[in-house]
Amino acid sequence: MIVSPSWAAPKRLVEASVSVPRWSPSSEISRREQMFLKRLGRTKKLFAFLREHRLDLFDDAFQDELAGMYRTTDEGKEPVAPALLAMAVLLQAYTGTSDAEAVELTVVDARWQMVLGVLSAEEPAFSQGTLQRFRERLIAHDMDRRLLERTVELAKTTRGFDFKKLPATIRLAVDSRPLTGAGRVEDTFNLLGHAARKLLECAAAVAGREPSELAAAVNAPSLAASSVKRGLDIDWNDPEQKADAIGQLVEQIERLEAWVQANLGSSAERPPLAEQLATLAQLREQDLESDPKGGGPRIRDGVAEDRRVSIEDPAMRHGRKTKSRTFNGYKSHLAADVDTNLILACGITPANAPEANALPGIIVDVAHFPERNQIGELHIDRGYVASNDVQALAANDVPIVAKPWHPRTGELFAKSAFKLDLDQLTITCPAGNTEKIQLGTIAHFPAESCDACPMRARCTKGALGRGRSVSIAADEPLQHELRRAIATPDGRARLRQRVMIEHRLAHHARKQGRRARYLGVRKNVFDARRHAATINLERLQLAEAA
Ligand code: SF4
Repeated sequence: MIVSPSWAAPKRLVEASVSVPRWSPSSEISRREQMFLKRLGRTKKLFAFLREHRLDLFDDAFQDELAGMYRTTDEGKEPVAPALLAMAVLLQAYTGTSDAEAVELTVVDARWQMVLGVLSAEEPAFSQGTLQRFRERLIAHDMDRRLLERTVELAKTTRGFDFKKLPATIRLAVDSRPLTGAGRVEDTFNLLGHAARKLLECAAAVAGREPSELAAAVNAPSLAASSVKRGLDIDWNDPEQKADAIGQLVEQIERLEAWVQANLGSSAERPPLAEQLATLAQLREQDLESDPKGGGPRIRDGVAEDRRVSIEDPAMRHGRKTKSRTFNGYKSHLAADVDTNLILACGITPANAPEANALPGIIVDVAHFPERNQIGELHIDRGYVASNDVQALAANDVPIVAKPWHPRTGELFAKSAFKLDLDQLTITCPAGNTEKIQLGTIAHFPAESCDACPMRARCTKGALGRGRSVSIAADEPLQHELRRAIATPDGRARLRQRVMIEHRLAHHARKQGRRARYLGVRKNVFDARRHAATINLERLQLAEAA
């Protein structure tokens, strides 16, 4: 599958790009820069690499693409060259600096100044607002994906990589790690109180009143308190008072909602009021239930599926790293080329989403590469195997390298002790009895055979009159292949190649941190991509130095 490069700037856009400043720092290295480059041979070597390759990374074609972000919105001329701002985005990721720090570093840090081509400047190279607007524009045009792609394209032109020796298709490895969300995680009282306070403040602003005055008018005093728990003022160790308090809180919220609906007319049907009303409905739906003994609402027993955990970041979810270790936020997915170790794509999914949900976006991103955009082998954690994309790749004879699922049977005969014939769709047990199977169902051996079987004690713990059952996965043919592969030394050796993506993930976690910088999925995809880009650049720098 060859996918035409969607990033290629249309001719019309390229011609119009003259209105956007071009970044054209000198390619000559001054004596002062030589001194810096010599010193940077020891630490923070990426500064030196970026100084040397800045115009390779931001060549004319890519600068035209970046300029294309401005024209489609019909906005006026941007005074700072987009390529310079894109370089600043990379430096921010490399040094882990905020927007405010980045602005200052363009004045006080000679390494930043050298890379940006503003050595000795006494004024910042850009303002905080310009950098923020640029980031939003980059995201809106999906140009953060192109920034990551450019680091792979740059690898073809730098020493240290011989792309001619690489296989024509990509051996892609994909894995994920937990990413704690940036939003505050709150319990039911605080979630409801936080959401209700936002509604109160917004409704008061629309009505031209003070929040405290409105809260008093609708008899919802707890909603105006600095903390809803302080407003409710009960003994939080007393279960009865606590159960009563949730009812009081819901009553206050309902009075406020009724006032909004009755007094703010169509404003209540538009954002932000409509969204705030919807959030409150969502929170009550997920966290509360009717008390079966009467007496109004109570906090739900157990955690609702897809429970919202933060007001500030509605996409964050509860996730589970292991059976006993949980986290709140997202999963950060990386896809890398096994042969070059370069990261090709990033994805972010809510922490409770199956791994498989990340694969479609990753595959689309890989397909965007102008060359080597076909997957020739896929190395994945078994959590991704359920993806339809994996099934489609396997159906197209793309080898899938993953550990198979192993149903737990304790000391009883494992599923591997049964012979599956996926052509005839039959299963034969260790005693030689054969039954028909259907994919995605459970195969049952007849009770009369099992009751009389001398191997019964090693096969089933069911009572007499119940035969052994074996679950047949919907993707059984693939699972069967994975089980067959892992049984061979060659198959196990291929599985071990996946360790490179674990190293990339660990490196990414060290760079980006284990906590998200931004709220929401898309901004965190941007953050993942810019860190992946700097990791790729560091890899290029190392390869060149070797
Ligand atoms: S117990 Fe049933 S399924 Fe198991 S080996 Fe005997 S006959 Fe086969």
